[in-house]
Amino acid sequence: MRAVTVTPGVPNSLRLTEEWPEPAPEEGAILVEALAVGVCGTDHEIIAGSYGEAPPGQERLVLGHEALGRVLEDPTGRLHAGDLVAGIVRHPDPVPCTNCAVDEWDMCRNGLYTEHGIKGLPGFARDRWRVQPKFAVGLDPALAQVGMLLEPTSVVAKAWDHIERVGRRAEWKPQTVLVTGAGPIGLLAALLATQRELSVHVLDRATSGPKPDLVRALGATYHATPVAELDFEPDVVVECTGAPVVVMAVMYKVGPTGIVCLTGVSSGGRTIESDPGALNRALVLENNVVLGSVNANRRHWELAAEALARADRGWLNSLITRRVPVGGYADAYAPQPDDIKVVLDFQA
Ligand code: BGC
Repeated sequence: MRAVTVTPGVPNSLRLTEEWPEPAPEEGAILVEALAVGVCGTDHEIIAGSYGEAPPGQERLVLGHEALGRVLEDPTGRLHAGDLVAGIVRHPDPVPCTNCAVDEWDMCRNGLYTEHGIKGLPGFARDRWRVQPKFAVGLDPALAQVGMLLEPTSVVAKAWDHIERVGRRAEWKPQTVLVTGAGPIGLLAALLATQRELSVHVLDRATSGPKPDLVRALGATYHATPVAELDFEPDVVVECTGAPVVVMAVMYKVGPTGIVCLTGVSSGGRTIESDPGALNRALVLENNVVLGSVNANRRHWELAAEALARADRGWLNSLITRRVPVGGYADAYAPQPDDIKVVLDFQA
């Protein structure tokens, strides 16, 4: 069968292998036929050789952590042949740490977790894959075209869950949300904010292309100005750019008792001038919180599946700006200027 693979650490070792072995039974009882896989920044980092790890004893890693498939067989009877399914990305560490021991693997404390298509576990960019029931999430049948958005939605469902937990340290009645970055994560974070009936603002550099309209279609306000020029102080910021200047600016901009949730991953190595004392003063005197958020546990995947089922399907569909048949895999992984979400299609 076909699989898209890389040799982690070796730049540009991306290949489509035609004779990849069928998934081993140990991978899980549920056998799945791949429909599609979403492409994200983490895949680009892995392809560039700066991230990623093959399974123990293997040289190559199958890519793909944003899965959508159709169940071929589930002997456990939880799912049925034909059901739409996604595989949870992260598995708990084997020690396990205190969080992995209670299936909060997104909060792993020792870094020994594994992740499909990223770290030590084969990904979903192959014709067939297997998954254990505990890591299989069923999707509403109406999501057949867009279900690969479940993984990035799980990431923002976790971010919102943690924002709300922090918010409940005091009276919690947020009104205004600023999302920085209108890529897939930013747009999905904005979707979840509108589902919470908040006043939503999205800021991005783009002045043309699909982003401004996608934001307006949510009923949110689009800004292409620097953060400092916004004429309001948000109660919540979901930072999705990882750009150092934006990260610093939102920490100053957030309103009193505000929460800044960082979801973007910076590459590091670039320095900017900053005044940590002034930042400290601003955060302390306003009881502000800055938190980082990555990955998602099963609870968040289920919340994400509900959020997607409630969302406007046409809007979700318009996040997918290119669908590339597997044969053209190299195109799928070559970014283009107006891309939002690119999807590798296993059925085309
Ligand atoms: C994935 C997360 C993962 C993170 C770090 C992201 O692209 O969405 O599930 O934890 O990369 O590897």
